[in-house]
Amino acid sequence: MAKILMVKPSCTNHYYLATAAILSPQKLHFHYQNPWLRVQAFAPRDHSNIDASPFLVFPLNPNSPSKSRPFPLKNRVHLPKLGLPTHFLDENFNQLYVCKTDEIPARIGFLGLGIMGSPMAQNLIKAGCDVTVWNRTKSKCDPLISLGAKYKSSPEEVAASCDVTFAMLADPESAVDVACGKHGAAGGMSPGKGYVDVSTVDGETSKLISAHIKSTGALFLEAPVSGSKKPAEDGQLIFLTAGDKSLYETAAPLLDIMGKSRFYLGDVGNGAAMKLVVNMIMGSMMASFSEGLLLSEKVGLDPKVLVEVISQGAISAPMYSMKGPSMVQSLYPTAFPLKHQQKDLRLALGLAESVSQATPIAAAANELYKVAKAHGLSDNDFSAVIEALKVKLQERS
Ligand code: NAP
Repeated sequence: MAKILMVKPSCTNHYYLATAAILSPQKLHFHYQNPWLRVQAFAPRDHSNIDASPFLVFPLNPNSPSKSRPFPLKNRVHLPKLGLPTHFLDENFNQLYVCKTDEIPARIGFLGLGIMGSPMAQNLIKAGCDVTVWNRTKSKCDPLISLGAKYKSSPEEVAASCDVTFAMLADPESAVDVACGKHGAAGGMSPGKGYVDVSTVDGETSKLISAHIKSTGALFLEAPVSGSKKPAEDGQLIFLTAGDKSLYETAAPLLDIMGKSRFYLGDVGNGAAMKLVVNMIMGSMMASFSEGLLLSEKVGLDPKVLVEVISQGAISAPMYSMKGPSMVQSLYPTAFPLKHQQKDLRLALGLAESVSQATPIAAAANELYKVAKAHGLSDNDFSAVIEALKVKLQERS
């Protein structure tokens, strides 16, 4: 029988998961989706069938109706009767996942612990995974080590000691360096291992990294993410994957810890291309939004009201509601660094050029981000692109 798992996304206590897990075997109605079994219902009304068989601590995504139904609140009342500490019965206690434990990569590496990499690795650790980390600036590993991560002093050593290694690097140069450079991950790869690059790079870079990794006999998956700092913290990223299908399947449960959905797009390069198209649109949206905010103010309107009006109409986007209020106050707390948005526009324009696709809006937006970078805003959030328009207006007046 498959081992049963109760999921608590922010779990720190295996006993909690174990206890929850052993309640379930006689009470589940599930269907198979190889290699995972997805629970559709859970109703621990009778505790006489508690099965104390071992299980693997492994979470699933919260808030993903396609994966399982929320655990009904009314069923929670039975748990205190079993002597479980009541503080475990929090709002996260709402999902079930059933899995075959032998399908899950045992040792996971994570390279690159910036704004995105840190919370992603943290979610893996909190899920009970055996995680080994490395970052160029070693101090960024410390919070993860204190959560239980192991540390190795080079990407090569991480890859050598892990089954699947993730990389979340800044740009094409760093992604290549960490994968293929001196003491890079490729040096530690071998048949049976996998390398999942979740950085945003162009297709050519991804293919280069893929070739290096695959020359060792290991598998490669590109899996750039859509979603920013908060979705990374909440395990709500969207993975745009391409490459070795078998690695995609092996890594799926790990992607499901860190994300809310995943797309498999075929050959290496397709994930990168999808990500660049998405971020090209996003960069133009933000530039246009910035123009609107400034124009509204200039003609005597309250930009805060503009944000509200937009939020209620057809062009509403979470990004506007999230970033608008702070942009109105000229505040740009960094979730997605402006330098990375400009990098993505640059790469997207290259992609467009490679197929002779006109992208005049994105090209104009890119110029604005370049102005913002030239004014020292690289490490601010990309919403700071609005400052480039202020600069331009000042220069003209
Ligand atoms: P970040 O905070 O700037 O982190 C970049 C990471 O890359 C850090 O770990 C950094 O190490 C490392 N790095 C940079 N240059 C390096 C080099 N030459 N050698 C080795 N390591 C190097 O960026 P982030 O926001 O986490 O983004 C990471 C990637 O995800 C980027 O490709 C970005 O476009 C993409 N992305 C970001 C977001 C977002 O909202 N932030 C969303 C989706 C995708 P140090 O700590 O030593 O500097």
